[in-house]
Amino acid sequence: MTARIIDGKAIAAGLRAKVAGEVGRLSRSHGLVPGLAVVLVGNNPASEVYVGSKAKMTAEVGMRSFDHRLPASTSEEELLELIGELNADHTVHGILVQLPLPAQIDPRKVIATIDPDKDVDGFNPTNAGRLATGLFGLVPCTPLACVILAKTVHPVLSGLEAAVVGRSNVVGRPLAQLLIAESTTVTVAHTKTRDLPSVCRRADLLFTAAGQPQLVRGDWIKPGATVIDVGINRIEVAGKTRIVGDVDFAEATQVAGAITPVPGGVGPMTIACLMVNTLRAACALAGLPPPAL
Ligand code: NAD
Repeated sequence: MTARIIDGKAIAAGLRAKVAGEVGRLSRSHGLVPGLAVVLVGNNPASEVYVGSKAKMTAEVGMRSFDHRLPASTSEEELLELIGELNADHTVHGILVQLPLPAQIDPRKVIATIDPDKDVDGFNPTNAGRLATGLFGLVPCTPLACVILAKTVHPVLSGLEAAVVGRSNVVGRPLAQLLIAESTTVTVAHTKTRDLPSVCRRADLLFTAAGQPQLVRGDWIKPGATVIDVGINRIEVAGKTRIVGDVDFAEATQVAGAITPVPGGVGPMTIACLMVNTLRAACALAGLPPPAL
């Protein structure tokens, strides 16, 4: 079998075009332009790249982008004060604080300070609680991206066996909640899971978010399964750095029915989902119905 490659780049471009259409409609009919504030503390090179592409995409879909770059020496108090200002600013509908933060700042305090209705990363405990209890809230972007990508293969996920490798607050845990909401039967695996290959082999839908290069081998995959690879790992091959996922792609394509590539799968969709969340937040804060996407 040769798996169908799920083209995250193209799917993300389509989603961003829909967001742009809705942003145009909002601004024409309600004079409302959604605004996203991105806060970067310090100069972690990977974070700078992420923040740069988030700002670029925000502008491209017609939203306002507010860039806040603070020095690595910023105190927790100073950052919390800025978040307080952004919470109160009516032109800002989404707030994202790029992680990781310098050691002197407690990320949990920062996340808890963001107004849950502007928390476009969906990490605030209020939004985690809303998700866990099946209420409308802002859902973390990467898990949302994973579910949208899986639905390009199976429009209805109900009843399918899903396995999620990883239980982080950023990916694994919220993804499991979303999959429960889609009525799949979910197994969440982690470093203490006894027989990971057999957990993976049961899955019609296999999501990997372990951060372990090529951990999942071809013979761990159920023939015909859909594989969504969240991992972004840098490895050295013949003196060059390559980015690979958590799945051995070459082996997996011989067994899976469909698979996301790394790069070009979940990554671009994650940023598109950030645009979706900012649009949703703007509509909800303005008392308007959710956007039709
Ligand atoms: P994390 O380190 O916080 O969590 C990793 C999880 O995987 C943990 O729960 C751990 O128990 C589990 N795990 C690790 N090794 C394992 C193993 N050998 N067997 C079973 N479980 C194992 O990482 P994270 O923030 O959740 O990110 C996971 C990966 O996804 C990373 O590669 C990260 O770069 C990537 N990521 C990608 C995007 C994207 O947009 N594509 C977004 C977020 C994270």
